[in-house]
Amino acid sequence: MIRASERAMGIEYAIRDVVLPARELEKKGIKVIRLNIGDPGKYDFQPPKHMRDAYCKAIQEGHNYYGTSEGLPELREAIVQREKRKNGVDITPEDVRVTAAVTEALQFIFGALLNPGDNILVPSPSYPPYTGLVKFYGGVPNEYLTVEENGWQPDIDDMRKKINEKTKAIAVINPNNPTGALYEKKTVREILDLAGEYGLPVISDEIYDLMTYEGEHVSPGSLTKDVPVIVMNGLSKVYFATGWRLGYFYYVDPEDKLSEVREAIDKMARIRICPNTPAQFAAIAGLTGPMDYLKEYMAKLKERRDYIYKRLTEIPGISTTKPQGAFYIFPRIDERSKWKNDKEFVLDALNEAHVLFVHGSGFGYAGDWHFRIVFLPPVPILEEAMNNFEAFMRRKLGS
Ligand code: PLP
Repeated sequence: MIRASERAMGIEYAIRDVVLPARELEKKGIKVIRLNIGDPGKYDFQPPKHMRDAYCKAIQEGHNYYGTSEGLPELREAIVQREKRKNGVDITPEDVRVTAAVTEALQFIFGALLNPGDNILVPSPSYPPYTGLVKFYGGVPNEYLTVEENGWQPDIDDMRKKINEKTKAIAVINPNNPTGALYEKKTVREILDLAGEYGLPVISDEIYDLMTYEGEHVSPGSLTKDVPVIVMNGLSKVYFATGWRLGYFYYVDPEDKLSEVREAIDKMARIRICPNTPAQFAAIAGLTGPMDYLKEYMAKLKERRDYIYKRLTEIPGISTTKPQGAFYIFPRIDERSKWKNDKEFVLDALNEAHVLFVHGSGFGYAGDWHFRIVFLPPVPILEEAMNNFEAFMRRKLGS
C-alpha cells in the first residue's frame, strides 16, 4: 500500500462525517431530513439575478482567462467601497486580496503565519476548518472558551490564559458558526485590547456580517487603532453564492506590522495562479448592486429562526440559546443518561427520527453535549423535522 501523508489523513470534518450514516439510511429508501450543512443554495435562496446575469455575461463576453493573483483591480476597488460602507475602514485596493472563498483565505493566512508548533487562538466551539487547517499547516489549534450562559460571547480571561509564546494570532468568527452568537462591541474592543497587549494580529471571519436578526455586526477592523486586523468575507452567505467559491480578505494595519506576512501570502497567491475570473465579475455586480433581496431573505430566515427556537424550547431534555445571526442553532443536551456522548445522540436521532444534525463536539471541546441544527429549510420542512425529533425525545425520556 502506498501511504498517504499523516497531514492529510489527520483531517476531520464533523459536518460531512455524519453524512455517511445518513446515506446508508437513504439507500434503504428512508427519507432523511438533512439539517447538517449550511448551504442556502440547497433551499429557496439563490444569488440575486444581477449577479447571476453578470456571471453569465462575463463568460459569454470572453472573460475566461487567468486574472491577476491579487484579484481583478475593479473588484478590489468594489470591495474597498463595500467595506468602507460597512465598516468605515481606511483601506485601498492594495490592501485587498481576492480568494477562492474564505476557505482559501484561511489557507493563505494560516500558511503564512504558522511554523511547526505555533498556535492560533480559535473559538470553541468553532467552524471545524479552523482547527483542521491550523493543524494541516503544522500548527496547534488553541481553543478559547465562548460562554453559553453569556450568549456564547468569548471569555476574554480564558483567551488571556491561553496565549503563550507560540501564539501567532487570535481568530474571531462573528456572527458565529455554530452558535449564531453576535458579539457585543465591548467584547470586540476587549479582544483588540488583548491582542494589542500581546502584539498579536486579529483574524476576523465576517462571512455572516449582514445576516443578523437583532443588533448589528461590529468588525474589529472598524475599531482598531494599532492592532493589525485581517478581515475575511465573501459571496457564500450574504450573497448566497456558496458554489461560486469566491471571497476576499483585507488588511487593516495602521502601523504596517504585517508587511512580511503580506509578502508571504502573495507568494502563496502566485503559486495558485488566480481566483475564478468570471465569478469576480459577478462579485463586482453583487458588491456594487442593490441589496433588497437580502431584506426579503432575512425576513424568511427570521421566521425560520423564530419557529425552530420556539419548537426547541418546548422539547424536553434540551435547552437552547436564541441565535442572533447566521442560520444555525446550537442546543444543549441536558438529559444525558440515555447516550454515551453527543455523537451517539445525533446518530440515535438520525436512526430513529430520521433527522440529521451535527454533534457539537465536532466543533471543539466547548461543543460537548450540544448539537447543531441548520434552519435554512422552509417552515413545513422544519416542522416535520421538529415533529419527528420531539416524538423521539419524548419516547426516549418517557414524557
Ligand atoms: N467561515 C465560516 C464561519 C463558515 O461558517 C463558513 C461556511 O459555512 C466558511 C467560512 C466557508 O466560507 P467559504 O464558502 O467562503 O469558503
